[in-house]
Amino acid sequence: MQVPLLDFSQQYVGLKDEILKEISEICDSQRFVLGEKVQKLENEIAEYCGTKHACGVTSGSDALIIALMVENIGAGDEVITTPFTFFATVGAISRVGATPVFVDIDPDTYNIDPAKIEEKITSKTKAIIPVHLFGQCCDMDAINAIASKHNLVVIEDACQSIGAEYKGKRAGSIGDYGCFSFYPTKNLGCFGDGGMVTANDDKKAELLKVYRNHGQGSTYIHHYVGGNFRLDALQAAVLSIKLRELDAWSEARTRNAAEYNEMFTASKLGNKIQTPFVADFANRHIYNQYSILVKDGKRDELRTKLLEKGVGCGVYYPLSLHQQECFKDLGYKDGDMPVSEQTSKEILALPIFPESTIEQRKFVVESIENILCS
Ligand SMILES: *Cc1c(COP(=O)(O)O)cnc(C)c1O
Repeated sequence: MQVPLLDFSQQYVGLKDEILKEISEICDSQRFVLGEKVQKLENEIAEYCGTKHACGVTSGSDALIIALMVENIGAGDEVITTPFTFFATVGAISRVGATPVFVDIDPDTYNIDPAKIEEKITSKTKAIIPVHLFGQCCDMDAINAIASKHNLVVIEDACQSIGAEYKGKRAGSIGDYGCFSFYPTKNLGCFGDGGMVTANDDKKAELLKVYRNHGQGSTYIHHYVGGNFRLDALQAAVLSIKLRELDAWSEARTRNAAEYNEMFTASKLGNKIQTPFVADFANRHIYNQYSILVKDGKRDELRTKLLEKGVGCGVYYPLSLHQQECFKDLGYKDGDMPVSEQTSKEILALPIFPESTIEQRKFVVESIENILCS
């Protein structure tokens, strides 16, 4: 049996006719950038996330950058975030000229540990970027309380967590901004790159739209130096069609995760592995990844052997970001983020995509059992 880590081909088959018809209409219209398709998607995403506004942008990476730009965060400013995330979170902070400040993660959720944030706040701190990793929300009440006490902006990196909930509130609606990616491997993916920033504040939302188009107010009159962060109509149209299916896909992922949990509990694996922990407050985990911890230093061996057996799996992320070559000027050393470092050695993502079958999950769990218990 072959079990790919990801396969969205079945999703496409079901929507192909409708998507191609929309694409064809846009090509006929020759209206490719922003416009009514993007506006329609913005309204739909704002409604889906429970925010007042949404602004379509070029990618999740740019969503983070534009939020920082609107807040005028740059050289001399510090932004607190997690070292256990996709590179883009921290890359965005550096790209605007600010200094990333890392706070270690909670060992259960793999998300930033709010109890360790305050000790890192200085007079230069301007913002916190919590990342809702793998589809599970951070402890946002704790983070927002710290932010309001110290007058900091909260930019949620919700790139892996569209539709995830924290105490009933949707990811991206809890901080000042929510940043989303529509990269094809996310739960809601387009046919290339795309992203979105959500916000509740009218003024912030207006500025997002100005910054997205080179800081242009009226035509060729520029109040700010923004950039080209414009989403295109083709991606927006694809996303509007796919958005209608998103809840069903996320529910399938949750069901798949529950099946894995049961199978692992019934297996001989015991504490050789650890299944994903779901915090009480994270009342809707959307499982962009189902990542287990592999104990006893066996992760790399397990990964190699699973791939040999035809089981797709992946390591997100193999290196804590404070240990990356490009951030060595920040002055961190090995051992500074012990939980993130340990997690990066143990983490392993298993196939969880909506259309994967229970037979495939059985094969995955049996394969892990055979490899680790023999
Ligand atoms: C995917 C991702 C991004 C970047 O999104 P792109 O659309 O690929 O630029 C940022 N942060 C996190 C946590 C992500 O998973």
